[in-house]
Amino acid sequence: MHGFCYRNESLHCEDVDLQALAAEHGTPLYVYSAGTILDHYRRLDAALAGVDHEVAYAVKANSNLSVLRLLANEGAGFDIVSGGELFRVIKAGGDPAHCTFAGVGKTRDEIVYALEQGIYSFNVESAEELRYLNQVAGELGVTAPAAVRVNPNVDAKTHKYISTGKSENKFGVDFEAIAGLYDMAARDLPHIRLRGLQMHIGSQLTSISPFIEAVEKVAPLARLLKEKHGIEFWSIGGGIGIIYQESLESGSIDWWEKQSEQDRPLTIEQYGREIVPRVKDLGLKILLEPGRFIVGNAGVLVTRCLYEKKGAAKTFRIVDAGMNDLIRPALYEGHHEIVPLKQPATDGRVTVDVVGPICESGDFFCQNRELPDFQPGDCIALMSAGAYGFVMASNYNSRPLPAEILVEGGTATVIRKRQTLDDLVAGEL
Ligand SMILES: *Cc1c(COP(=O)(O)O)cnc(C)c1O
Repeated sequence: MHGFCYRNESLHCEDVDLQALAAEHGTPLYVYSAGTILDHYRRLDAALAGVDHEVAYAVKANSNLSVLRLLANEGAGFDIVSGGELFRVIKAGGDPAHCTFAGVGKTRDEIVYALEQGIYSFNVESAEELRYLNQVAGELGVTAPAAVRVNPNVDAKTHKYISTGKSENKFGVDFEAIAGLYDMAARDLPHIRLRGLQMHIGSQLTSISPFIEAVEKVAPLARLLKEKHGIEFWSIGGGIGIIYQESLESGSIDWWEKQSEQDRPLTIEQYGREIVPRVKDLGLKILLEPGRFIVGNAGVLVTRCLYEKKGAAKTFRIVDAGMNDLIRPALYEGHHEIVPLKQPATDGRVTVDVVGPICESGDFFCQNRELPDFQPGDCIALMSAGAYGFVMASNYNSRPLPAEILVEGGTATVIRKRQTLDDLVAGEL
């Protein structure tokens, strides 16, 4: 489900007309639906109801303070990958005691900050990091709660840049080495408290089979570590994919039922049905670290068409958002559905490349795509831009970062101001 649909030929986010928002706040503009974020969080929570669990939202997907506050108020935990993300969670009213800290390259400053704040667990990615964590905790006279990330060597069947659970990826510790590492830590690392086990096999997984394969492979290891070292949790990671195609229609059950059995994307209910029975007898708290699933379909990037340019081979529609605002197409070959904010009067279609103003050939949002006709001056929405959208935006080409808006029912709130030209050079000499 998501909160975007046409009403009176005008694209709305919940009860707010996006055209009016674009007129008031300018473009490019990120707009998020609070109702959608909450719906996704609650559905995931409900799907896991059969087992003791906690949903730790992966902050890196969308780290705006207002988004974090929304989830903190629902009782979510948070999966962080930097000291900066921990700072944001605390600012937003989140509880460090419900934070897990992932990532292959934690610095000393980050470790000290997280120890001082009393996070739930460091999710450690190598033997070297575990030893270093022990050393820093010892110097501070405290004990560090830790879980090791197991790399189960499972093919997540997703884009190569977002696959993380194969032996050749930089993430985690080889499956075969985990038991020995826990024994070593219990014996030699007095400032480590072995609290859990973690895994995360990749992002944007749209079929259940890699999740099942990983859970079935790692469950006996989790059981062993509980018996031997008294671990209390197993984080089975994030990675639940969303539907980027046909994103206006695909929120509905009708759409889902029309897809052939093998094309039907994973639903969260199916995820719960398949995963819960495979983990519930372990007696461990099951953590989930979803990012994209919670916020991906809950946001759009609104941009205005500046020019039409007819080349010898192609027709371009040049818009005022660029790859610096939304890098997914350039970085991951990511697909974003493109829809006009005003439904056109005719059903005329055009085949165009929608491109940004940046001096890079990778600066496109679609190529040779058939779209409803729109003209210079018209606004369009790049759908499903709530995850890995604004958080990856940069000032490349000295373009100020766009504003972000959160819609709740009929209310739209600016949750991040558009950067000014002065913001662009703040801190420079
Ligand atoms: C990025 C990340 C996630 C979230 O991935 P999604 O695909 O957005 O659900 C969860 N856990 C870890 C360790 C990550 O690095």
